[in-house]
Amino acid sequence: MRTSQYILATLKETPSDAEIISHQLMLRAGMIRKLASGLYTWLPSGLKVLRNVEKVVREEMDKAGAIEMLMPVIQPADLWQESGRWDQFGPELLRISDRNNRPFALGPTHEEVITDFVRKEINSYKQLPITLYQVQTKVRDEVRPRFGVMRAREFTMKDAYSFHLSEDCLSATYERMHQAYCNIFERLGLDYRPVIADTGSIGGSVSHEFHVLAESGEDAIAFSDGSDYAANIEKAEALAPTETRAEASKTLNTFATPEASTIEQLKAKHGVKPHRGVKTIIVYGAADENEQRGLVALVVRGDHSLNELKAQAHELVHSPLELAKEADIIAAIGAKPGSLGPVGLNIPVIVDHSAAIMADFVAGANKDGEHYSGVNWDRDVTDFTVADIRNVVEGDPSPCGKGVLQIMRGVEVGHIFQLGTKYSESMNAGVLGENGKNQMLTMGCYGIGVSRIVAAAIEQNNDDYGIKWPTALAPFTLAIVPMNMHKSHRIPDIADKLYNEFKAAGIDVLFDDRKERPGVMFNDMELLGVPYTLVIGERNLDNNQVELKNRRTGKKLMLDIDQAVTEIC
Ligand code: ATP
Ligand code: MG
Ligand code: MG
Ligand code: MG
Repeated sequence: MRTSQYILATLKETPSDAEIISHQLMLRAGMIRKLASGLYTWLPSGLKVLRNVEKVVREEMDKAGAIEMLMPVIQPADLWQESGRWDQFGPELLRISDRNNRPFALGPTHEEVITDFVRKEINSYKQLPITLYQVQTKVRDEVRPRFGVMRAREFTMKDAYSFHLSEDCLSATYERMHQAYCNIFERLGLDYRPVIADTGSIGGSVSHEFHVLAESGEDAIAFSDGSDYAANIEKAEALAPTETRAEASKTLNTFATPEASTIEQLKAKHGVKPHRGVKTIIVYGAADENEQRGLVALVVRGDHSLNELKAQAHELVHSPLELAKEADIIAAIGAKPGSLGPVGLNIPVIVDHSAAIMADFVAGANKDGEHYSGVNWDRDVTDFTVADIRNVVEGDPSPCGKGVLQIMRGVEVGHIFQLGTKYSESMNAGVLGENGKNQMLTMGCYGIGVSRIVAAAIEQNNDDYGIKWPTALAPFTLAIVPMNMHKSHRIPDIADKLYNEFKAAGIDVLFDDRKERPGVMFNDMELLGVPYTLVIGERNLDNNQVELKNRRTGKKLMLDIDQAVTEIC
């Protein structure tokens, strides 16, 4: 590819609305452009990287025995009604209707569609087990799209679904998929961890998430320093011993706002403590910009109807102490701005029933590692109920019994589930078993965030000059940078000749044939992260040599012109 005939689209300035390094670099390197919130156009070099991820994913899926197919993005609502998710999913499910007013959804995932396919096409035990997959656009109307393609509203996922007649058979495929995922992340050169995941609302028994380690990650994951136990924070918290939680809740006391200290006094007066399993949580106040004051929550035990809460809401903002007096259990919770959570929510939003589906937000002290997470409301009841309040902090004993927990940040790039019969039962998907009787299918599902991986890889592979692609991901393998080409007779000829030879040898080469200053060209190639740059300059040509620069190591190597192609290939 010649840059003069390409869209490099590199930017000198860092776009101000990009918060994390991968988002900044994807914009600056000309990989993506924003169309609207959470919607991105992939430019040619970005698309090449995306395709590289897809290639590795497809190869490993095929190797693991999965079969590729492709299902529609637009899905009829009746399938979602059958599975019960039309009502459960909430506003993340983008709903549309056609010209005849028939309701549809833009697929955030494809369990319903694949189960419908399988119940129609697979009739006999002889056709099982089977694993089907696709690489397809997913649509989720995320409450907070951010970080570019990391949390987009339209993104590429590889989703696979397996169907079995027994739990054992499902377990065997699940293991194979787990291994395939490890192979994929290994080949992509990512520092990743598989962690045990909470199956939460999806149900089922076994689940793992795959996280790419990165400070900017939206998730917390807990590792034991004394074993290979690793879990996402929700799972670690669900298993944490009660004493740990009680101990951790003490740390909340270190966080004192005027309100919190007043509540502390109240607690002392009434002799109450933060408690697990509380029934109603009422949130008032919010964190201010400079994180000096956290959001404060009152956790009130006992049942309060929605109407009662609404009636009290306005009062509450102005006189939290009045309500506090009535509460038999009170806790003060701070949360920092920027954490996905009740920050910025105020009472009118909280008491609006639609806000209740904001799931699993994090609320915690203005200190890393001291957050309550998994705070959630059950939206199917008229009262707000707190599903659970848990916390785990660094240094807690590991639930596995060995070692203490370390907590790190991660980006969820993959998620696998043993679903069991959840969908086959609700959608009546069975086959004729060996005994001649109808048998329900047992199911697994396996997702990879293909487009998110591109951003996650950049989080781990960058420096002050730009991206440093792992080989498998790089948009080009080699860049040819001729210096001051227009001032020389020999340089254009040699650059051209080498370009053609590399192309013939099957190397994906980018020939920077722009009439730009060498500095501009070097900067662009470094920003884009091309692993090798071949520099052609007058002085080295006098010795019949060209210079090869390694982007990752920064090392330079002189090569004889006639050996350059054989040495590099
Ligand atoms: P998250 O917790 O980040 O919202 P999720 O648990 O909702 O992700 P899954 O339903 O497990 O996502 O989907 C499988 C994979 O799809 C995720 O592991 C992630 O890599 C990717 N993914 C999910 N949502 C998005 C998104 N909005 N943008 C890009 N990739 C996404
Ligand atoms: Mg999600
Ligand atoms: Mg998740
Ligand atoms: Mg997930």
